[in-house]
Amino acid sequence: MPETLNRSSEFLRRVMATETGKKLARCFACGTCSSGCPVHAQKPEFDPRKIIRMTLLGLEDNLLKSKEIWMCSTCYTCRERCPQEVGCAEIIIELRNIAAEMGYTPEAFKMQMEALRKFGRVYEIEDFDNKKRAKMGLSELETKARIEPLIPEKEER
Ligand code: SF4
Ligand code: SF4
Repeated sequence: MPETLNRSSEFLRRVMATETGKKLARCFACGTCSSGCPVHAQKPEFDPRKIIRMTLLGLEDNLLKSKEIWMCSTCYTCRERCPQEVGCAEIIIELRNIAAEMGYTPEAFKMQMEALRKFGRVYEIEDFDNKKRAKMGLSELETKARIEPLIPEKEER
């Protein structure tokens, strides 16, 4: 068996081993997920049906290196509407997990993760934010405060 086919099979096996992945083969490409997806409505290049199809075809590299898998807002509309209960949202999360393990996480997400680790928020509070908060009658937040990390640093093995 050619190596690429072996690799693709391995990738598909991993996705299908997850609780949601077990239902992946149920997809009959009806497109209900895409038609109800709010991200697809704004950015047609993001297409959950296409992502499911590409996964079933084992197109690992095209999926894991794509920016599309990071565009899902995890609203779960597709999951609610899929007649086959495929669960596109969870499949996309699993694809992200694999992509992250392989070092394909986009820079913007890495920066958000770092901010969350350092500040307990996905962005740093600046004076500018406090001015906006004051206008809305909200209390002032500490700026540039080092809040104890909510997520511990990953231990080296
Ligand atoms: S709604 Fe479900 S069955 Fe239809 S294309 Fe999307 S994943 Fe496949
Ligand atoms: S969970 Fe993601 S793929 Fe599904 S409808 Fe929402 S944005 Fe679209």
